[in-house]
Amino acid sequence: MNLEEETKFLIKKYNISANKNLGQNFLIDENVVESIINAAKICEDDVVIEIGPGLGTLTNKLLQKAKKVIAIELDDKMINILKERFLLYENFVLLKEDVLRVNFEDLLIEQNIQKNNIKIVANLPYYITTPIITKLLEEKVQVKSITVMVQKEVADRLTAIPGKKDAGAITYCVYYYCEPEKVLIVPNNSFIPPPQVSSEVITLNMRKTPIVNLKNEKIFFQMVKASFMQRRKTLINALNNAGIASKDVIKNLLNEMNLSENIRGEALSIEQFAELSNKLEN
Ligand code: SAM
Repeated sequence: MNLEEETKFLIKKYNISANKNLGQNFLIDENVVESIINAAKICEDDVVIEIGPGLGTLTNKLLQKAKKVIAIELDDKMINILKERFLLYENFVLLKEDVLRVNFEDLLIEQNIQKNNIKIVANLPYYITTPIITKLLEEKVQVKSITVMVQKEVADRLTAIPGKKDAGAITYCVYYYCEPEKVLIVPNNSFIPPPQVSSEVITLNMRKTPIVNLKNEKIFFQMVKASFMQRRKTLINALNNAGIASKDVIKNLLNEMNLSENIRGEALSIEQFAELSNKLEN
């Protein structure tokens, strides 16, 4: 049975239909699954955290390669299928949980997992891609890499260079912690049901240390978020409106940095944002 036949068989056997509200688009393309596994460079010592295992297509491959697979799934119907399907695998841990509510620090302690060999692999539910990536990065979940299928436009934003085309607030967060890499554009007919949007696999490789030195991470990320919340406004106005600093203070700092007073936040590189936030902290 190929993956498409297997998926249709499971859907029929368990009498389920894909729940759009939960972003359920099941992978049926063997080559795409293989590319995801290869991009994640799974080896036998790795512990993989899979977000949204669904019917278990990726999970099945991950279980053959990794030391342990911890799968986090919200949907009861999927949980029942996964329990039955992978009953005999000793390296399989299944959690019925909303991924956005998982305390990863506690999870890793409970599962007695060394922090140096954890990888996230997932065909993500697209409706919560940005909150999931933000949570993993901001909570500093100690992973080596994050290899995920996401909506193409989101892939462009997550892998953009800060200050350049396609960048958003999350681009700075990703670039601060990770080296992003595009892996593969995935056609819509690689899924059942086909999603309305195009998809792409990306890998975020965690840096050993962040790319810039920050005196205060909180201020840095507040500044970035404030600039992109009002991206049509000048940086001076956006930061002033957000109550981060007065117009005069920002104006003086921009002058010190030889930047125009009319510059918008979206034009700043990560180094420039870092310098500005460090100056502000002083
Ligand atoms: N991994 C499967 C595959 O590739 O065929 C399914 C991927 S499907 C795009 C996304 C999966 O995430 C679904 O199984 C869905 O039920 C699950 N999901 C949606 N929201 C979730 C949440 N908040 N927490 C955990 N899982 C969630």
